[in-house]
Amino acid sequence: MAHILPPAMLGILGGGQLGRMFTMAARSMGYRVTVLDPDVQSPAGMVADRHIRAGYDDEGALEDLASNCAAVTIEFENVPADSLRFLESRTRVSPSSACVAIAQDRIAEKRYIAGAGLAVAPFRAVETAQDLAGDLAPLLPGILKTARFGYDGKGQARVTTPEDVHGAFEAFGCRPCVLEKRLDLETEISVIVARTSTDLVRTFPVAENWHEAGILDISIVPARVTPAIAARACEMACALAEAMDYVGVLAVEFFVLQDGGLVINEIAPRPHNSGHYTLDACAVSQFGQQVRTLCQLPPADTRLLSPVVMVNLLGDIWRDDEPAWDLILSEPAAVLHLYGKASARAGRKMGHFNVLAETVDVALEKAEALKRALR
Ligand code: ADP
Ligand code: MG
Repeated sequence: MAHILPPAMLGILGGGQLGRMFTMAARSMGYRVTVLDPDVQSPAGMVADRHIRAGYDDEGALEDLASNCAAVTIEFENVPADSLRFLESRTRVSPSSACVAIAQDRIAEKRYIAGAGLAVAPFRAVETAQDLAGDLAPLLPGILKTARFGYDGKGQARVTTPEDVHGAFEAFGCRPCVLEKRLDLETEISVIVARTSTDLVRTFPVAENWHEAGILDISIVPARVTPAIAARACEMACALAEAMDYVGVLAVEFFVLQDGGLVINEIAPRPHNSGHYTLDACAVSQFGQQVRTLCQLPPADTRLLSPVVMVNLLGDIWRDDEPAWDLILSEPAAVLHLYGKASARAGRKMGHFNVLAETVDVALEKAEALKRALR
């Protein structure tokens, strides 16, 4: 397929922070960008060439996007499947609707990953109450997760007894769920893959991820795991991307088990919060790779240029006023990114900062000091 070159118009469904960083990466390369997002104050819309303010299933808007964009991508997996299929019939779309369908449903996702011969946590699909019949003990203590629309720990319940499982299933309105065994985690890591074709695929260095209250708090790169575990995670992520014939940026989250085992937790068919470190610590960011793969160009070099720690800035630290940004901006090792969101709420991702240093330990120390100071 032919390359798409600047100043072509690229389109993106979704205008949050991921769309904003895609838009800025594309525009800095000389592409133009159209954002489709109903939100008037969309973080991506405000930095785009064009912002179509309409719903993701608005036919006129999709028609407009298809006829004016050389290629279209997404910033979140919950776009209506019909909208993506319509766009696919009219213009180039990556990732494909088939890949997005796998990633937007935990049941399809786990079945697909296991079917590709890659490890996942022991699980059972719970589509109706009948699926809760039989012995649940091998999956307990566990976590019941809604199959769709869960993120940042939402749509999840920790369950210990069969009664808990029934109760949680009802509390979720008997929507399809997966019951997953709770595993003893040594740590959590993620790999971001950029793939244009079988021969054109690269992984970014492995990130070690810490969560707080179900939301990513800190990513540390390089991850403090053995070289063998890091290599295996990259191999598994590439194997999955190849099995899916994936085109675009794919994020793969892993659990590292206490016995050194590695299982895939979940995937995202787009750049990921745990890849924000690439904005400052690599020659090309995950958003630059999203542009390149969308345009059928080879992914660029993913080498890590410096140890780095990424810290998320959630709405919780906005009280009556803006946080004291001079704390971060006075630290030469830190790079601040704010998403321009109009209002702060607890748990809402408002920005992040990356701290670069000679070693991961020094970066972590500085990052944690800044985090404490901002509280
Ligand atoms: P989300 O879509 O909210 O990111 P995840 O499935 O990644 O959902 O779960 C969020 C977090 O909950 C994980 O990063 C991990 O810390 C914890 N968790 C999820 N599933 C398990 C499990 N099977 N065993 C242990 N911890 C888990
Ligand atoms: Mg997750």
